[in-house]
Formats: sequence, C-alpha cells, structure tokens
Amino acid sequence: RFKALVLTQGDDGRTLCEERVLEASDLMDGDVDVAVEATTVNYKDGLAITGRSPVVRRWPMVPGVDLAGTVTASRSPLWREGDRVILNGWGVGETHYGAYAGLVRVKAEWLVALPERFSFQEAMAIGTAGYTAMLALLALERFGVSPDHGPALVTGAAGGVGSVAVSLLAGRGWHVVASTGRPAEAGWLGDLGAAEVVDRSELSASPKPLARERWAAGIDSVGGTTLANALAATRRQGAIAACGLAGGMELPGSVAPFILRGVALLGIDSVMAPRPLREEAWARLAADLAPGTLAHIEVPIGFADIVATAHAILEGRVRGRVVVTDVAS
Ligand code: NAP
Repeated sequence: RFKALVLTQGDDGRTLCEERVLEASDLMDGDVDVAVEATTVNYKDGLAITGRSPVVRRWPMVPGVDLAGTVTASRSPLWREGDRVILNGWGVGETHYGAYAGLVRVKAEWLVALPERFSFQEAMAIGTAGYTAMLALLALERFGVSPDHGPALVTGAAGGVGSVAVSLLAGRGWHVVASTGRPAEAGWLGDLGAAEVVDRSELSASPKPLARERWAAGIDSVGGTTLANALAATRRQGAIAACGLAGGMELPGSVAPFILRGVALLGIDSVMAPRPLREEAWARLAADLAPGTLAHIEVPIGFADIVATAHAILEGRVRGRVVVTDVAS
C-alpha cells in the first residue's frame, strides 16, 4: 500500500485532487514497477492539478510527469530489480498513472538509466525542465549555431527550463542574455552564468517584423509575444528553440525573420522524444552540468506541498526547480 495524489473530475468539470492510499493492483498496465524515490513539480503538473488546461485525458488520474526511482519488479529484459531509472513524459501523469505515488507501473521503453553522476534528488532537480533545456541545446547545436556567432537568449530565465538553460549555455561558452520578469533574481542568474539580465518587458511589446539583431540563438519557454520578439531580434542564420507557452500559446509575429534573415524556429517536444535522444540528452547533462548548479537551483518541498506548488508555478512564483523526496514515506 502506498499514498498517491488522485485527480477526479467533478460534475461541473472542475478538477478535484485528494490524497488516497492505493495498492499495486490499482495501477495501470505496464511491465516494470518502480518505487518513486523523487519527483518534482513542472509547469505541466501545475496545469494538470489545477485543471487550467486539459492536460489530464483519463479520469481518475495520478498526476506527476517526472520521476526518479528504483525498479522493484521487471517483466522486461531491459531492466532488473534494483536498477536506478528516470522517467520523463510519455503521457505519464496525463493518460497513464504518474509520479505522485509511492509506486508506478510503466512500460520498460519509457525508462532511461539514471546516470551514475546523479542522485535521485539531483535527477529531479533537472527533471523534464532540465532535460528539455538540454534537448533545446542539442537542437541548436545540430542546427549549427555556436558561441562565436553571438549571444544566446534565454526567456523565462528564473523558471525551471530557463535556469538550467542558462547554466548549460554558459557552460558551453555562450554569452547568455537572460530575460526575466523577476529583476530581483539578477544576482542568482549571474551566479548561474548569465552575462546579461534583461527585463522581460523588453520582449513583450507588440512585435515588429524585424528588430535590431541581438542574439544568434535562443531557448524560449515563454511563447506568445516573447517568442515573436525573440525571433525578430535574431541574427542572420540564427535559431530559436521553442519549448514553452508560459506566456501564451499564440505566435503573433511575421515570417520576416525566416525569409529575410534565414532564422530558424526549432520545435522541442520532450514528451514523445525517442529513447536514443533522451539517452543522449541525459548523458550530456551528466557531462555538462557545472558542479553546484543543481544545489543552486533546487527548492526542496514535501509531498504535502505539491498542490500549493502547482498553483505557485502557474503564477510564476517558483524559482528554479522543485524537488520532492518523501513520496514513498
Ligand atoms: P516554470 O518553472 O514556471 O518557468 C516558466 C517561467 O516563464 C517563469 O518562471 C517566468 O520566468 C516565465 N513566465 C511565466 N509566466 C510568464 C508570462 N505571463 N509572461 C512572460 N514570462 C512568463 O515552468 P517550466 O517547468 O520551466 O516550464 C516552462 C514552459 O516550458 C512551460 O510552458 C512548460 O509547459 C514548457 N515545457 C515544455 C516542454 C516540451 O517538451 N516542449 C518541456 C518542459 C516544459 P521569469 O520569472 O524569469 O520571467
């Protein structure tokens, strides 16, 4: 028996959340059981728990899109009891019972081996947000931009994706321009590696088709007007990797950056990313993350704080990355 957060839908369509005690027989189909040692709260978990967007597509649902844990039983040749694993996405916490439970039962192919370097706690200080930041960096590198082309912009810099992106880009030698709505975090962002901190209002005006060329690359977790302005100010042959919508789903720009400057918009989807790409991203995180980064961005919370944190993250009040380690207690 283990505790779990369970989401149900009320008659009025509202999402209801309560803690329940479940048994292994309550879990959905899968060939590997994993004891959840650590989890986190991502923006998407905030959307699921509050019901603000239709993230949950099956009721009832155990939310939680991210976990690090120990295999307790495996009916697959891929994993053995005792293996340390990570799971990011694949619809877990959306269509398949997720991480806010002592035990999960999942498909073997969804799991990635936890790199030796990381503890469970550190893996969740990275979580989907950090792994997505790495997918974005890999996409920029594949496109062919590098620090000698110019600065790199990071939007939503004080958030989860943003803070890891700042650290990763700076570690690879980029001059990082961090855009944030929290100027009080300028010192914290500087410690992570930001060379410049700009106020997010610089990117929130109604976008012009083209603006002064300011950066050669970018990792955007905000979307909306911010992304349109980021593209308009991207240098010739530069690229922006788009992974989020914290500022909006729309893209109110023009094609001018694409057709007049050869700028590229690179889409990042962490949820259904194929396993080899996940393994590459986690290996690069293990190789690249500067010592001390995770301690700098981590905010420990308890299982009992998950719901309040879900609301806080949607309000932009969470800095860095939340980590929960008392899931199984
Ligand atoms: P987060 O920790 O809440 O970070 C989002 C940041 O965006 C906030 O900290 C804030 O940064 C900024 N922000 C929030 N509301 C804003 C607004 N109205 N206008 C402008 N900026 C705003 O969330 P996260 O977990 O990093 O996720 C960030 C985004 O990426 C979310 O939309 C999430 O769904 C998406 N995401 C996508 C993928 C994928 O696979 N594509 C994977 C992970 C996350 P400042 O305070 O610094 O301004």
